[in-house]
Amino acid sequence: MSFNVVFFGPPAAGKGTQAKIIESKYGLKQLSTGDILRAEVAAQTDLGKQAKDIMDAGKLVSDDIVIGIIENAMAQASDAKGFIFDGFPRTQAQAKALDDMLAKTGQKIDIVLELKVADDAFLDRIKKRAEEEGRSDDTVDAMATRIAAYRSYSAEVLPYYQAQRDIVPVDGMQAVDDVTTQIEQALGKVQNLAA
Ligand code: AMP
Repeated sequence: MSFNVVFFGPPAAGKGTQAKIIESKYGLKQLSTGDILRAEVAAQTDLGKQAKDIMDAGKLVSDDIVIGIIENAMAQASDAKGFIFDGFPRTQAQAKALDDMLAKTGQKIDIVLELKVADDAFLDRIKKRAEEEGRSDDTVDAMATRIAAYRSYSAEVLPYYQAQRDIVPVDGMQAVDDVTTQIEQALGKVQNLAA
């Protein structure tokens, strides 16, 4: 029995933090295309070299690349109870490819969460993360592009999921623990995941 979560939310909304908490509590594997791409850049692989400039500019890496990344990552973690897709899908083509990949093994997306954060909270969070993690795309300019990119890709992908199911909103302005509680309640409504 597997359980798959798509976790939507703007950059620096706390998605990664929450996904990691849910991952360790429920044995789901977090798959963040952003994290995997950053590791490729750090390791200076061909893929990383191809992706670096695009990422630094806050633009989207091609569908083929990220779909391939997810396919590999899912195959490598085939013993996971399910996946939390974080930062993926970002286009309808990616969303469709994900449904198709899961369908091959009789799986599906079980819940779509949308973490919501007020517009003016972004810049403060991004500045804080830039200080803490030193990511090369955490600059004010790249952030503006990434927020705009989030708006446009969520306007493309959320309707794809809305046509299939209700998207569950999560208030990302609350304290970390309270956000986790909201997510656990949402997951519990869909399926009783044994911790
Ligand atoms: P993130 O950590 O999710 O904000 O991703 C960082 C950067 O990686 C993005 O700004 C994109 O350049 C790239 N990226 C991550 N995931 C995807 C995706 N699903 N499709 C296209 N580009 C992506």
